[in-house]
Amino acid sequence: MSVDPNTPVLRNCIRLPLPEDELIEVTAKAKDYAIMHGAAMRSKSNFSEDSLNFAPFVLVPSSFPRKEFEKAVALQPIINRLMHNVAHDEEFITTTLAETIKVDEFTANLFNIYRKVLAHGFTQRTSLGMLRSDLMLESGCPELSPKALLWRGEAGEDGQATAAAAAVAAGTGSGGGVGVGVCGGKPRAKAETMEEEEEEAAVKRNEQLSRATVSGVSTATVASKDRKAAAYCCWKQVEINTIASGFGHLGPASKTVQSFVLRELGHADKLPNMPHNNALAGLCDGMVKAWDIYAKPQSVILFIIEDVSYNICDQRFHEFYIRETYPHIKVLRRTLTDVHREGKLGLNKELLLGGLEVAVIYFRAGYEPGHYHSQDEWDARYLMETSLAIKCPSIQYHLAGTKKVQQALAQPAVLERFINDPEEMKAVGKIFTGLYSLDDNEAGNATYEMALRTPEKFVLKPQREGGGNNVYGVDIPDALKRMSRVERSAWILMDLIHPPLTKGYMVRPGAEMPPTIVDMVSELGIFGVVIGDADHIIHNYQAGHMLRTKLSTANEGGVAAGLGALDSPYLIDSDDEDEN
Ligand code: ADP
Ligand code: MG
Repeated sequence: MSVDPNTPVLRNCIRLPLPEDELIEVTAKAKDYAIMHGAAMRSKSNFSEDSLNFAPFVLVPSSFPRKEFEKAVALQPIINRLMHNVAHDEEFITTTLAETIKVDEFTANLFNIYRKVLAHGFTQRTSLGMLRSDLMLESGCPELSPKALLWRGEAGEDGQATAAAAAVAAGTGSGGGVGVGVCGGKPRAKAETMEEEEEEAAVKRNEQLSRATVSGVSTATVASKDRKAAAYCCWKQVEINTIASGFGHLGPASKTVQSFVLRELGHADKLPNMPHNNALAGLCDGMVKAWDIYAKPQSVILFIIEDVSYNICDQRFHEFYIRETYPHIKVLRRTLTDVHREGKLGLNKELLLGGLEVAVIYFRAGYEPGHYHSQDEWDARYLMETSLAIKCPSIQYHLAGTKKVQQALAQPAVLERFINDPEEMKAVGKIFTGLYSLDDNEAGNATYEMALRTPEKFVLKPQREGGGNNVYGVDIPDALKRMSRVERSAWILMDLIHPPLTKGYMVRPGAEMPPTIVDMVSELGIFGVVIGDADHIIHNYQAGHMLRTKLSTANEGGVAAGLGALDSPYLIDSDDEDEN
């Protein structure tokens, strides 16, 4: 993907580049530190069950605006409740997916299980939702607050030189003020010392830039040095995951590695700006709360796994945390094929594996067609679905996480159905970027025409999880033209989000040393746990976060898929009271 040359750059956590000898030394240490603290994966190219490689990581944490981070965290319980309500709205799920299941076999298979379970009644009414809401900052947000747009200076750790750069950007040529802006490393005083006219000019320049970014028009008049001063604004949801929401361990592990690096580099003072991340405990405690609700002391927790687990640390650490924290609870790992072979239902529809009764099923597989080799695996999924075990996710939660449902929810009239509070409605409504139906009707046809006219503004998504399935920008017209009108309803169209850039070192197994500075973009995931049935929510909380970062030119950033890298947020402040 090409990157708009006007894309703003967030201020770095520390001053880069590092001197080469220091860079080589700290990178080598950090690689070992990563392996030895479980920031690791099995190699795909050289697979062995007996060894691990470090997972690709960004050496120094990437900046993320504190207010936006805090908003995302605060919103998560509301999103949890929204998804819980959506999952329990049979009419909504059925009508929303009606067109999609006519042409998308995988979603149709899931839906068939749902239909059968509905027909026979749910054996287990309680669901365990372990969600991850993924989001990106949107640098071209039309709601940009002018105050959030004040120029700041060159990227540097302490905000020095800011005023001079602000003045240059404002075209006034004279400095003398205190740095202002959203990209500052610490909360700083407002622009009291900045001349009023300077401030106005800066705002004007930023407004021009923001308009240019929004419209995608290149602003040749804005020097690249000045662009560094531009601001982020809001964030937009990329997707919501309701199945196999990964990085509960790798999220916190990334913070561990990067904290070590910052200490090594003499920047321990920066650590307080890396937010606490309790994702592993939050998610595993969710499983244990569900186990408690099931209330049978001998019962176990079952992880459904792929045939080969490359992302092994992000599953085993969950298992080990549970055993260490709750020594009486055993975790089993089985594939769908294993469950077909070994699993059966007891007299009260308990799921039995060998002699063990399963209280909770945590699906880390089952979200893509490749996990179902034959009807056997579908039968196993159905068996589990009809059992008394508490599922994460239950089939209705799985369906609630489809892209088609996300697209439907982005319409305010639909959102109203699930959220009563007007303030919550407003807050959730804002997180959606443009999402468009491609159903075989008038609206779908209009979307189709729009995508052919301006494909560079969009991403085309099927009902799939796990990365690598989307079609981007100029590739969209060909993809759409190959489909019949009916086939298009298996897909949705979404506005591309334009995150600001960060600059840093990406460290990959087997890559040349030392790493070089690259342009990157990040995607933040906020975890949420929600437990309840159609009538009551018993537990609902936010459960930590994860940050994945990819090269700015890459379309997708899956770490297991090989394009992304582990990262964690370094929170930077704005002094803008009017932001929102
Ligand atoms: P999956 O379920 O396969 O993870 P996603 O919707 O999360 O599908 O898309 C995969 C990746 O594609 C995201 O992690 C992100 O990097 C990129 N992406 C998806 N939607 C957008 C968008 N609207 N704008 C920019 N990038 C996007
Ligand atoms: Mg995703």
